[in-house]
Formats: sequence, C-alpha cells, structure tokens
Amino acid sequence: MIFSENRHPLFGIMLQGSLKNMSARSYLDWNATAPMRAEAKAAFAAAASQLGNPSSVHAEGRAARAVIEAAREQVAGLSGAIAGNVIFTSSGTEANMLALTPAIETAGEKQPRSRLFLSAIEHASVRSGGRFAADAIEELPVRPDGRLDLTALAKAVANAPRPMVSVMLANNETGIIQPVAEASEIVHAVGGLLHVDAVQAAGRIPCNIAALGADLLTLSAHKIGGAKGVGALIRAREDIHFREPLVRGGGQERGLRGGTENVAGIAAFGAAALAALTGRDAEASHMRGLRNELEARLLAATPEAVVFGRDDAIERLPNTTLFALPGIKAETAIIAFDLEGVAVSSGAACSSGKVQPSHVLAAMGASGPQQRGAVRVSLGWNSKAADVEKFLSAWTKLASALSKRQRGIAA
Ligand code: PLP
Repeated sequence: MIFSENRHPLFGIMLQGSLKNMSARSYLDWNATAPMRAEAKAAFAAAASQLGNPSSVHAEGRAARAVIEAAREQVAGLSGAIAGNVIFTSSGTEANMLALTPAIETAGEKQPRSRLFLSAIEHASVRSGGRFAADAIEELPVRPDGRLDLTALAKAVANAPRPMVSVMLANNETGIIQPVAEASEIVHAVGGLLHVDAVQAAGRIPCNIAALGADLLTLSAHKIGGAKGVGALIRAREDIHFREPLVRGGGQERGLRGGTENVAGIAAFGAAALAALTGRDAEASHMRGLRNELEARLLAATPEAVVFGRDDAIERLPNTTLFALPGIKAETAIIAFDLEGVAVSSGAACSSGKVQPSHVLAAMGASGPQQRGAVRVSLGWNSKAADVEKFLSAWTKLASALSKRQRGIAA
C-alpha cells in the first residue's frame, strides 16, 4: 500500500495523524517488506559514498568491483552456492523473469525448454511465466493442505520433453512450505530443470540450493533486511547457460543483465544475507514463539476463525499467520487494524487499492468469503510481545463490533 499523503489509500479516509507517530505503530507485514538491518544500512552507506564504476579498470572502479564481489560471496553463502553462480538483478521479480525462459541450456541439453509448469500458488512474478509463450505455460494444482500436488506434477512432466518447473519454497500468503526436494526428484527424472522462488523462505528456514535440488533459486534483498530493488538469481551449476540476456547492454552480470550495478544496494544485500544466515535459527525460534502465542489467543478469542495451514503435519514459515473469520472482509479488517496502529495485509495481493480474492486460497479450495476475507500477519526478527498484544487488542475490538452488528441484524 502506498501512503503518499495522510489519506487512506483504500477508502480515502483521513488518517488523523496516525502515520505521524510511526514508532508507536506495530508493523506486522514483514512478508511485504522487512526493515533494513543495521549491518545492511552501514554497508549501504559505506558503498554509497564510494566512487567508481565497477566496470572501470582504475583503482576506483576496482574498489567498487571489490564491494560487489564481496557481497556476491555473502549472498552465495545464504544458499550454499558458489559466488560465481550468483547473478544480481533489480528485484526478486526480475530474477524470476531471468530464470523463466525456454532459452536455457545445460551441458546435457542444448534444445530449448518445451513447456513451463508452475504451481497454482506462485507469486505474480512467476505466474506471469517470464519469457515463455502463454500457450507453453501450465498451472499445477495444490492439495487442500496448500502443498503442491506431486502426483499431478509427475503426470504433467511425464509427456513434456525438456520441461521447466517453478515451485516456490514457501508461500507468501500462507507461509506453507512446499515439497521442493520431492519435486526436484520428479523433475530431474525426466530431464527437466527446477526453478525455486525462495524469496519468502530465505533467512527464515534453510535454503541450501543443493539440498533443495534446485537448478535455479531466486532471492530478494528487501525481504531479508537489505534494500528494496535488489535481487539475485542463483545457478546451482556453472553448466546452466542462458542463451538470451534479460537486459542487453554493457555485458554486466555475465552478460545477462546490462546496466551499471546498484553497488550500494548489492553491498547491503550481502550484509543482510550474512546477518540473516548467522541469526536465522535464533530469529526463527523468536518469531515462532510470538506467532504461536498470537494464533492460540486469536483462536481463543474467536473460535470460529480459521488459521490456514495450522496443522502439525504441515510445515509453515515460523513468522506467518493467514486467517479468516466469517463475516469479516479483508479490507475492512486492514483499515480497522491500521487505525489502531497495526500494519497487516490481506492474504491477497492489494493492487490499485483493491483487495483481490486470494488465488492461493482459491487453489486450496477455500470458500469465496475466505478468499476475500483472509488477513495476513507476518512477523520479523525484531517483532515484540507488545506488537502481538496490540494486534490482539485491535482484533478483539474488531470481532466484538462484528458480533454486535450480527446480533443487531439477527434481532
Ligand atoms: N516472490 C515472492 C514469493 C514474493 O513474495 C515476492 C514479493 O513479495 C517476490 C517474488 C518479488 O520480489 P521483489 O519484491 O523483490 O520483486
């Protein structure tokens, strides 16, 4: 959501100064973006004041190049990859766009990829299919538990020569973790390539590219505490070649993405990747503790609410809760929370100020009202117990207003 003035973007109501005191607010929308980490801000500031184009051969240029190469090592470390296989891009979106192309070859396969298969719950940047023709793209169903249907995957790729498959590691709305390693076995058994969008998983759960069996992996800096507008596509092996650059130009990033690099953003990405890797387990356990408390008390206050994917048999990110309560619409809830100083989002994408029904919940077979009503709460490494309290007190107010209204209607 964009707050360009002191007026609410969805309903045009005045915010009465609530945004003026941001420090009193509780930000629970970390899956949309995370604050920059202190380490990333320091790296950004240092690189921003450094002179030199990384493509220049003089000392200033070499210094800027050294900043990028140090960050490349750090970003590679987050996924256990080799630094030379990291390609910096302008976003996770752009990394997905670079990955999804029929013009990709490996040592064993020089022919173009015939078809692209995507899970039905992918982020819009994957669902658009990158550089594949629309009629070469096929969606794969997920099961009601929110995980990719592996039987459908096996069936789909069996008759497609040289398929490319894209499966996210963790869903941005539900947090549900996908069976990527199992998908990898299926895809590789038929000579396919697997791309994994790990944008939401990075820094929260292990993302080792080899353990996942991914051929290509997407990361985004701003979800792990780097700056907005930087991403990376990581290749598992050097023998994966793109025949077409994404951006033609000066040959930067192995000729795949022309344009002078965003040195400060890349430096911050490296610092954030290192901090995210180092702190991952402690941060995950902190977030999980708060999230479990939030869910338990939310369900105690409103037992008719549904928390999607809250099942011991289903693995979820430690920071994400997606829930719906009959009778509550996402936009009403988001505004009510916002006016109480709590930033949450709808499960569904919010584009042009309008909440769309969630394609993720639709794919899981959730009802229409649930698709339109789901609210997402996502926590981060510096979320506090006080944020959970503030959320719960706003929720109790909202739910009691709803139940009064329902009683009024019934009377
Ligand atoms: N993939 C997933 C799963 C995401 O959640 C997002 C952003 O929300 C993206 C890709 C896009 O990343 P970026 O914002 O860097 O373009």
